Amino acid sequence: MRQNNIKKRIVVLGGGESGVGAAVLALKKGYDTFLSDSGKVAPKYADMLNEYGVEWEEGHHSEERILCADEVVKSPGIPNDAPIITKLRSKNVPVISEIEFAGRFTDAKMVCITGSNGKTTTTLLTYHILQKAGLDVGLAGNVGRSLALQVATEKHDVYVIELSSFQLDNMYEFKANIAVLLNITPDHLDRYDHKMENYVAAKFRILQNQTGDDSFIFWENDPIIAAQLKRLKVEAKMYPFSEHDDPEAAAFIDSKGEVVLRHDGDSLVIDKNDLALKGLHNVFNSMAAGLSASILDIKKDVIRRALADFEAVEHRLEYVRTVDGVRYVNDSKATNVNSCWYALESMTTPVVLILGGKDKGNDYSEIELFVRAKVKAIVCLGVDNSKLHGFFDGKVPVVEDARSMEDAVAKCRSLASDGDTVLLSPCCASFDLFKSYEDRGRQFKACVAALK
Ligand code: ADP
Repeated sequence: MRQNNIKKRIVVLGGGESGVGAAVLALKKGYDTFLSDSGKVAPKYADMLNEYGVEWEEGHHSEERILCADEVVKSPGIPNDAPIITKLRSKNVPVISEIEFAGRFTDAKMVCITGSNGKTTTTLLTYHILQKAGLDVGLAGNVGRSLALQVATEKHDVYVIELSSFQLDNMYEFKANIAVLLNITPDHLDRYDHKMENYVAAKFRILQNQTGDDSFIFWENDPIIAAQLKRLKVEAKMYPFSEHDDPEAAAFIDSKGEVVLRHDGDSLVIDKNDLALKGLHNVFNSMAAGLSASILDIKKDVIRRALADFEAVEHRLEYVRTVDGVRYVNDSKATNVNSCWYALESMTTPVVLILGGKDKGNDYSEIELFVRAKVKAIVCLGVDNSKLHGFFDGKVPVVEDARSMEDAVAKCRSLASDGDTVLLSPCCASFDLFKSYEDRGRQFKACVAALK
């Protein structure tokens, strides 16, 4: 048991997946538990809280009940500068994340995955390999159910956990047995005082408390990771992966274009074309997942088969359908320019690209080379498309506007010809026209399914 500092009174802030899980776990462990959400708690979670007998409130924070907590578990959606958190800090009440809290009550091995892009894909891929290998494994963090609820109600030997920087922010004593850092590009800087170094530091918290018995898997060619590593002393065993033919790396692409994974003097060589997930970014994700599995002593054959038969994750370069020889691909989760870069990198046909939505300060010059080389038309799908026109007009033969997904798919259909790909990889958040990126992706798939 990683149990320490037993506190009497736990307050959980936020009544979503992680908060409700934390509250259930706290109650089960005998703490005096109270959950508070300043917004509305979804009916599913309200039912769960009532079922377990957790005391809770919604629509406001009762400060008199919160500020006297011995410890507060904060949901990752609540910013560190929210007024209630500032007040807690001024009273020196420790504020921790759900993962930190749950980690105290389990001895399971923790495979933790972070990065600016690719977390969900790599987490699900790793989980898939470990499941295929017959391990008793739980899936937690940003995907799947909360770690706390699983620790409270089930028992697994290994957890694969997707960790956002927000979760890492409030982790102190938790330790990842295997830490994966995929990449770091600017994201969410509004939550980090607009300072890149704060965001980088949050990501590197994945290494804290690791010892020589633990492992650190990372992309060695990421300039931000490489620069930060020069400043740090890493205790864990290092497993760098690389897109270059670098036999020093734990995973790399050799001169024949094959993917090589090395562990304990043994090598697993896989033809890139046999990987289920396509594109360079997915080679990285496959390397990271494959290395994690090797470190857990999964047999090479199982790793090879699992990397080959994994089914694409919804909204991430998800193949939808071919109509009149045109492939339709849903990459609605590409909410920043970097993920669109990787989507375009993986394209092997001319592309009709749907871009647009809520721009978070995008710099489109990052994708300009790929757009010029591969994109024959852009359909701008947003309330305000002026920035897209400002950048792409004149660089791509056709740049059109659409105001709804139906309109966008219809325009793409008339612009694409046999052998092309229509790619929804918008570079932007979805909130101007859609409820979420999932809503945007599902509308895309529905419109494509309806094409006759
Ligand atoms: P996250 O959970 O970190 O947001 P996802 O796995 O959901 O990442 O992928 C989000 C988008 O990022 C995908 O649409 C894909 O195009 C892109 N992506 C996936 N893996 C990587 C990677 N290793 N590097 C860069 N971009 C990636």
